[in-house]
Amino acid sequence: AATPLCHSVIPIVNKLQDIFAQVGSQSMIELPQVAVVGSQSSGKSSVLEALVGRDFLPRGNDICTRRPLVLQLQQTKRKTDGGDEEWGEFLHLPGKKFFDFNEIRKEIQADTEREAGKNKGVSDKQIRLKIFSPNVLDITLVDLPGLTKVPVGDQPSDIEARIRTMIMSYIKIPSCLILAVSPANSDLANSDALQMAGIADPDGNRTIGVITKLDIMDRGTDARNFLLGKVIPLQLGYVGVVNRSQEDILLNRSIKDALIAEEKFFRSRPVYSDLADRCGVPQLAKKLNQILVQHIKTILPGLKARISAALVSVAKEHASYGEITESKAGQGALLLNILSKYSEAFSSMIEGKNEEMSTS
Ligand code: GDP
Ligand code: MG
Repeated sequence: AATPLCHSVIPIVNKLQDIFAQVGSQSMIELPQVAVVGSQSSGKSSVLEALVGRDFLPRGNDICTRRPLVLQLQQTKRKTDGGDEEWGEFLHLPGKKFFDFNEIRKEIQADTEREAGKNKGVSDKQIRLKIFSPNVLDITLVDLPGLTKVPVGDQPSDIEARIRTMIMSYIKIPSCLILAVSPANSDLANSDALQMAGIADPDGNRTIGVITKLDIMDRGTDARNFLLGKVIPLQLGYVGVVNRSQEDILLNRSIKDALIAEEKFFRSRPVYSDLADRCGVPQLAKKLNQILVQHIKTILPGLKARISAALVSVAKEHASYGEITESKAGQGALLLNILSKYSEAFSSMIEGKNEEMSTS
């Protein structure tokens, strides 16, 4: 029963997010998404990229992510002839399809510079990007700048507090799932990611711990106890991953090769052999999807109520326009129309879910 839900619910949620962003509506409905939190260069962008399975994010051992990047993944139908198309579209460049993922990275960099300057400045203005592919799960991911302590370049002296506030504005939302990314080659017990996630989600029911850089831990040490939750327990647990190193990036190593190397890494380490369900990017993707579907199921009734309320207020506003402005009335009617459509879709889904529950 979980499978059809992840194909039907999430695209609708993605569409709603788009509609509200586009009409610049203040009545933001809190929609589920997945955000990463962690210190700078902990591997957040690498983890997101690996989950998407394509190379397109700026990564490196410096501040690369300088604006929030909202990434909507949309699964497309697989073509029978094997000629699968994958492309990206930016909200700020409507209608333009990017088939070359290197061009996507360049556009992220260019738009980051337009907004946040060329000298390490940070801005909280979002970049919104959709990726269409038959190889992705239908989820929305948010890549965020990492926590940093010492201002560099054009960064203001209060950069740490600013980035904290920016990250917090995403992860405090009760429907946001948090990927708390901590590099295994630093002191995990002092992880910035787990500390911030702990503040935003004190009950720990929406935080997944991700331990990166297992390959470059100090010789003789391992992350076993951490992955088992024996150091800092997390209700949803941990997944350990190995992403590409800076050298791999410079050598243009493909994500496919990286996934093969990761699998080989875990296979060759007896210390992780009984933790297969907690190791590797594919396990992280699986875990994420399960949690997301569960999460959406629980919040659906509340979401429906809020959409209905939004619908009533739009209808009232629409009625009050009278003959004032044609275009504004038109816009209101359009929003009303779209919202009715999705509200209906939500209703039938919830009813479907109830049926399912009563028969089981
Ligand atoms: P972010 O700042 O948290 O987004 O981190 P990035 O994804 O940009 O990665 C920072 C640096 O760490 C890059 O040079 C990556 O190649 C490297 N890196 C990320 N994950 C791993 C990993 O699992 N192993 C190794 N060896 N390097 C990694
Ligand atoms: Mg990054």
